[in-house]
Amino acid sequence: MTAVHVPGNPVIEAGELVSTSPATGVEAGRLPVATDADVRRAVDRARTANEWWAGLGFTGRRERLLRWRALLAKRIEQLAELVHVEGGKPVADAIVEIVTAIEHIDWAARNANRVLGPRRVRSRLILAEFSGHLEYQPYGVVGVIGPWNYPVFTPIGSAAYALAAGNAVVLKPSEYTPVVGQWLVDSFAEVVPEQPVFTAVHGLGEVGAALCRSGVNKLAFTGSTATARKVMAACAETLTPVLIEGGGKDAMIVDSDADLDAAAEACVWGGMTNAGQTCIGIERVYAVDQVFDTFVDKVVARAGRLTVGPEGTDIGPITMPGQVDVIRRHIEAAVSSGGRAVLGGPSAVQPPYVHPTVLVDVPEESAAVREETFGPTLTISRVRDADEALARANALPYGLGGSVFGRRRAVAIARRLRSGMASVNSTLTFAGMSTLPFGGVGDSGFGRIHGEDGLREFGRAKAITRRR
Ligand code: NAP
Repeated sequence: MTAVHVPGNPVIEAGELVSTSPATGVEAGRLPVATDADVRRAVDRARTANEWWAGLGFTGRRERLLRWRALLAKRIEQLAELVHVEGGKPVADAIVEIVTAIEHIDWAARNANRVLGPRRVRSRLILAEFSGHLEYQPYGVVGVIGPWNYPVFTPIGSAAYALAAGNAVVLKPSEYTPVVGQWLVDSFAEVVPEQPVFTAVHGLGEVGAALCRSGVNKLAFTGSTATARKVMAACAETLTPVLIEGGGKDAMIVDSDADLDAAAEACVWGGMTNAGQTCIGIERVYAVDQVFDTFVDKVVARAGRLTVGPEGTDIGPITMPGQVDVIRRHIEAAVSSGGRAVLGGPSAVQPPYVHPTVLVDVPEESAAVREETFGPTLTISRVRDADEALARANALPYGLGGSVFGRRRAVAIARRLRSGMASVNSTLTFAGMSTLPFGGVGDSGFGRIHGEDGLREFGRAKAITRRR
């Protein structure tokens, strides 16, 4: 990486990763870049720490995780300010992210024993003199590689569940948000000072690659699908099991009997919160012909009221300076291929900001419809009926989330969405539900975080049969 100081672009100076605000260029902090040997050392230390942590049992871990939860709750504002400075996210959005993460720590801590603890299992095949027992044992050391767009919620979505299951965790935060990642592990060390149970290593993609090769017992990756392929290839060498939370291009379907005000409200929230930099953000909408025009008007009216800028606004800067070029390319290609910008458009791209943009009549093969844009942009397409909407929604290799607005058929349509998650008459809600599994299908990945499945993801099923 060259040492060109574009605000928000991390640089390496004297062996340190320097992280700056994408809005102001203010330095958020600097952290030592890990070498391959540092990564291996961190994993070795975590392995020793894991013996102690696993030995605490569910009760001991629960007590410590709940203390961590309480510490985060006490410091929400401090952490939100750091998320805001380092990634540009509006403070109000950062608070929502942190509160959601805290809820996951709470749930994982309180439910690990019930979901993973030893239990007797009845089986018709087991003869009277045998009994069957099942328990989920920790893997050992789990490597967590995270993205920058939800720098608190995303690592915690894996780490809290892995920790509750009895694993030690080594986190590689995104190079765009390393300071937030370090803050998380430092806060954990305050309540668990005895051993390096949850630590971080920093650097660019090579450090993530080194973590894949380091001998971790499981790797939980959240990031783009392109990087997920590299992670899987690296983990294949050592048969390290992986969990992949990849990219998405979530669709929203608006049926003829939808409440259009509620749908428009949720569409703008789902598509534009966090400046559209959300894996489960709404990027494309399919609205049936009868309601299309009214729905578009309602979306444009609401999105047009959003404020954009560095402080106290609805939409902050694009965190990764290079992503602005992707957003610009998608908008320009959509317009030059026959699409219409009914709000924003090419002139809405004013680095590091992108103003809300709503595109209609965009050809289905356009990048704005097919590829992850990751900006405050929406395409809205007119469809004949819900079947056509479903066919188009399901045509992409991605399959993370999706949403349906309507009454009579909405749940049936949601079931037919090719996605790991679907919400009816709301958007983004599945992220906050600690009781429900989170994850995708196809190019959006496999494996599940959150909920009971999320806990089981970090425990190895161990079967024991016993003769009386
Ligand atoms: P990314 O570029 O794929 O990076 C993700 C992480 O992987 C970063 O920590 C990155 O480190 C690391 N990395 C890069 N190259 C690597 C390699 N060869 N081996 C191992 N690790 C490597 O993704 P991003 O731009 O940070 O995040 C945005 C993407 O994440 C979007 O596609 C979004 O949809 C997806 N996402 C998915 C979910 C979900 O739950 N499914 C949630 C949030 C985000 P560096 O930063 O140092 O390169």
